[in-house]
Amino acid sequence: MTVTRFAPSPTGFLHVGNLRTALFNYMIARKSGGTFILRLDDTDPERSKQEYADAIKEDLEWLGLTWDRVEKQSDRLERYADAADQMRASGRLYEAFETPTELDLKRKKQLNMGRPPVYDRAALALTDADKTRLRAERSPHWRFLLNHQRIEWTDGILGDISIDAASVSDPVLIRGDGQVLYTIASVVDDTDMGVTHVVRGSDHVTNTATQIQIIQALDGKVPEFAHHSLLTGPQGEALSKRLGTLALRDLRARGVQPMALLSHMARLGSSDPIELCTSLDELIEGFDLSHFGAAPTKFDEADLFPLTARYLAGLPLEAVAEQLAAIGVPQDLAPAFWAAVRENITVLDDMKDWWQLFSKGAQPVIADEDREFVAQAFAMLPPKPYDANTWANWTKAVKEATGRKGRGLFMPLRLALTGRAKGPEMADVMPLLQVLPKLA
Ligand code: GLU
Repeated sequence: MTVTRFAPSPTGFLHVGNLRTALFNYMIARKSGGTFILRLDDTDPERSKQEYADAIKEDLEWLGLTWDRVEKQSDRLERYADAADQMRASGRLYEAFETPTELDLKRKKQLNMGRPPVYDRAALALTDADKTRLRAERSPHWRFLLNHQRIEWTDGILGDISIDAASVSDPVLIRGDGQVLYTIASVVDDTDMGVTHVVRGSDHVTNTATQIQIIQALDGKVPEFAHHSLLTGPQGEALSKRLGTLALRDLRARGVQPMALLSHMARLGSSDPIELCTSLDELIEGFDLSHFGAAPTKFDEADLFPLTARYLAGLPLEAVAEQLAAIGVPQDLAPAFWAAVRENITVLDDMKDWWQLFSKGAQPVIADEDREFVAQAFAMLPPKPYDANTWANWTKAVKEATGRKGRGLFMPLRLALTGRAKGPEMADVMPLLQVLPKLA
């Protein structure tokens, strides 16, 4: 059975980059009737916060990305300690004592000599006496002893990958203060939970190489790995600094609709066209990981708004009835109001302006040369109530009386009645006008 997981650290809000990872793993699991696990990587007690864990769930729920179960790494620390013992016993975990400053110095020296800054394994040469002396001064951290051979896998997106383990530092799995690090926790979880597919950002490619050896050292089964490209801004600029402003909750507050966001993120960076889907099932149906490429993926938040507008335009009245009531649209006018505005809004909030305009009267816009014409036309307005024919009948009469036609006839009247050059059909607008604008 397919088992995937989305494994955010609850150290901040989810952003569009995280969403890609979540969505891919979700779709892979759902497509094959498998299990999708939400795993909170919270081994860092300083930075992990309950409010972020809650926010992650809330954001996923907003999008409808349901999970089958939640796991928390902070609940599994004993299990990681056991795994560490197992690796100590098999000689794959070794004590090292360098301070961050010493390590930094080593790296600088290596770089100065034109060598890659790979940990030199000096700790392996320590005698028992050295270690006893050092342990009295500082607590050791623990590194995984990589086998220096090539690590290979066929990546679901990047294709065949081969990394020379000798070009990678032995990863630190346990810090001097005893904190278990993500690299081992993730591997133990993936192994214990039977994770079959891991999709994550391409910033994890080197991690994957080391994790493959750790999985093997723990006699686990190596899952299928796929690394999606990282998002860049529209100009190809790095997005990492801006991701904070692309939090899912901010997009939500700006009116982006879940299906618009999901439709965009589920296809962006693939050879499939971005099409607005109206359900997750439809998205899952058309999803194929092998259609994604390795090149950085350009993301422009502006693209989310036309999709949102299209999504809203297709919604039936029932879907927005609550929001209409909340902004004060009376129930009897709701069908006509929604029919009139649904194609004239980008986000739901735009409905407010239209209702304000219909219910309170617009601020009319009248060019000097149209002043007389508009006054004459307004004097010819029939008594209320207005219906679907009011506009046609009225403008026909105005045309006959003034000789104006086409745009010269319609546009000044639209501008005078709505204060806007664009909007719903005027035939639909007339019956909605509760108050006529006052001509100055
Ligand atoms: N907590 C890790 C991250 O957010 C998870 C990476 C993984 O999927 O293994 O980067």
